Amino acid sequence: MINYTERLTLLMQDIVRRVPTLSFIDVADVLVFARSGRSNAEGAFATCHCLTLPASEPGYYFWRDRKTRHITRRSEWFVTKSPVVTLGTRNIKYMISFALPRYCDQSLDRTRKEHLYPGADPWIAKLDTVVHELYHIDPQLAGIRRIEREDGTFSANCHGHQFFEQVAGMVHTYLNSEPPPSAYEFLRDDFSSLEAQHGGVVATTFRTFPSFPQRYIERLAQQPPCDADTQEVRVEPLHAVQQPTRYTEDDLHIRQFTAATSSRLIRKGAFRAA
Ligand SMILES: [Zn+2]
Repeated sequence: MINYTERLTLLMQDIVRRVPTLSFIDVADVLVFARSGRSNAEGAFATCHCLTLPASEPGYYFWRDRKTRHITRRSEWFVTKSPVVTLGTRNIKYMISFALPRYCDQSLDRTRKEHLYPGADPWIAKLDTVVHELYHIDPQLAGIRRIEREDGTFSANCHGHQFFEQVAGMVHTYLNSEPPPSAYEFLRDDFSSLEAQHGGVVATTFRTFPSFPQRYIERLAQQPPCDADTQEVRVEPLHAVQQPTRYTEDDLHIRQFTAATSSRLIRKGAFRAA
């Protein structure tokens, strides 16, 4: 069977070697995993998740009375934090998730990317997505890359005006560097031909599948006084976090994906740090 997330990781290693704009990335800081996404359903093909953001400032939720606009209740104080994901002794800084089988069935035809690749093979859309997600990694490894406007200020939107053109430029830089076809040829196949050729498609997922590490809320142990508090304001306890906040290689599974579903393989997959 083809291990799709492993192939994507190897492809990323080749891309950051050949594309100067992305050469600051050490792919060992990046964990690639799969989520499920049907080919005929709406949704993202891939997502870049940052794990390096610091804890937020303390805050609380509150509710107002519709008529009086007074606060009637609030939650306890909390901060939001990034989960910690370690492989061996190494802290993972970013994760890139791919929706399977949707990503494998992506094509350039009739997409907004099409005009950036005149006459190109349809599978180039998948290479574009890989470069797109890598381009979201911030050169200071502090969050999602902010896009500088022409006047030197930063856009709040992580897809700036020229983002898609810049991604296409890096895709061309990569292809013009004459990469070995073995690095990217698996992108030529859609999901059903991958299954036919390899007898199945497997990928790294988290033990908590379909859940995966995400920012979470932590109650402040010391609850400071709050300006909003009056006699009428009820303070609601926060619910404990349902999902783990720390993950290691023991939390990674190898899962087989099919067109409609996915199942965990009994054989536990060793994660190969790339
Ligand atoms: Zn994006």
